[in-house]
Amino acid sequence: MPLTPEEFRVKYPVLIGWLMHTVAAHAERSRSVGSFGFTRLPAYFSPLLIASARVVPVDVLPMPPLSQMGLTQFTEWERIEYGGITYFDTYFLTMNELGNEPLHFHELVHVVQWRLLGPERFITQYSDGLEKFGYRSSPLEVIASDLEDRFKSSLEVFDAESEVRARLRF
Ligand SMILES: [Zn+2]
Repeated sequence: MPLTPEEFRVKYPVLIGWLMHTVAAHAERSRSVGSFGFTRLPAYFSPLLIASARVVPVDVLPMPPLSQMGLTQFTEWERIEYGGITYFDTYFLTMNELGNEPLHFHELVHVVQWRLLGPERFITQYSDGLEKFGYRSSPLEVIASDLEDRFKSSLEVFDAESEVRARLRF
């Protein structure tokens, strides 16, 4: 069942508070993506993004306790095992994925989506997409996966930020 606008008004501040707290709690352990020294990423994203997006290495990804927040429609999403997850301009990666350049690329696409849409529209569109289409086919994930596939399958450089912008609904 989709969230009503009233439910969204109640739940959104709880969720955004959890996300902000989680990012702040890990800030000291974060590094810029630029510090990893990947050779391909800087050709696809702006120097500003490469210098400012933060990466937090973790053993277990911090997932928002959505069921506890009363958001029980996302149980499928809560159960999936991910290698990374992005909140605002920070993404968390499990230790075994730190050297996975295509996964960094995928999470950087989400950073661009957060920036272009802003937190409220990102969360609205992401949760709508999950509910309507499921994780793999949710529109914001499809954009990230398509561009990641392009990054993996060819060395031909493209402007990832422009591609993301062109494919977003505002
Ligand atoms: Zn993703």
